[in-house]
Amino acid sequence: MKERGKLIVLSGPSGAGKSTVVALAMEKRDDICFSVSVTTRAPRPGEVDGKDYFFISDEEFRKMVEEDRLLEHAEYVSHCYGTPRNYVLEKLESGMNVILDIEVKGARQVKNKFPDAVLVFFAPPSLSVLRERLTGRGTETEETINARLERAGQEYTEADFYDWLVVNETPEQAAEELSAIITASHCRFCDRKDILK
Ligand code: ADP
Ligand code: 5GP
Repeated sequence: MKERGKLIVLSGPSGAGKSTVVALAMEKRDDICFSVSVTTRAPRPGEVDGKDYFFISDEEFRKMVEEDRLLEHAEYVSHCYGTPRNYVLEKLESGMNVILDIEVKGARQVKNKFPDAVLVFFAPPSLSVLRERLTGRGTETEETINARLERAGQEYTEADFYDWLVVNETPEQAAEELSAIITASHCRFCDRKDILK
């Protein structure tokens, strides 16, 4: 019998390397897919609508919330973000592991709705390295970088309900650890015990 996929929630400060590492993990295995969120923020140079995000207006976002089409949603540094519900449910049903790259408040909502979701917190080796990576990415102003670093410090204090912590020293090491967590999450006794009957 085909196992149901796992819902993998990935959080961590903007610039921690989540997108880089997820892309690498997806190259290495074909049983994971990425849930593309909706957001009201503007695309960064190089970001593609429908691949990185679905870029929508405030009005469209409000409508999706009203129609209960989002699994979770939250505000992050003055913009709204949310996870479209149907894609996630269909992929889990088909056996794919679905990765959500979402902030901490959204992760808490997911954990309440899906207690067996696997929560992975992603951190850079230090906040000064985070500043370097955000500056190096070249997509944010100094002011936005400061706001994001402040939010990062806040998220660290709220993250103790996560199951796993990956420190992104190199993309290869972090992708390997993420992949190991996904594999381990399928070996949980409580999910597999029917095999022993
Ligand atoms: P996030 O998705 O968490 O916001 P990104 O994947 O966009 O972060 O990474 C932020 C920046 O840091 C990018 O320029 C990326 O190339 C770089 N980066 C990611 N992981 C590493 C790493 N392990 N070492 C050095 N630079 C990294
Ligand atoms: P960014 O603007 O850097 O792409 O993302 C900012 C923050 O929003 C990141 O912490 C990212 O994980 C989070 N985020 C992205 N999509 C969603 C979503 O659908 N829901 C929630 N709650 N957070 C999201």
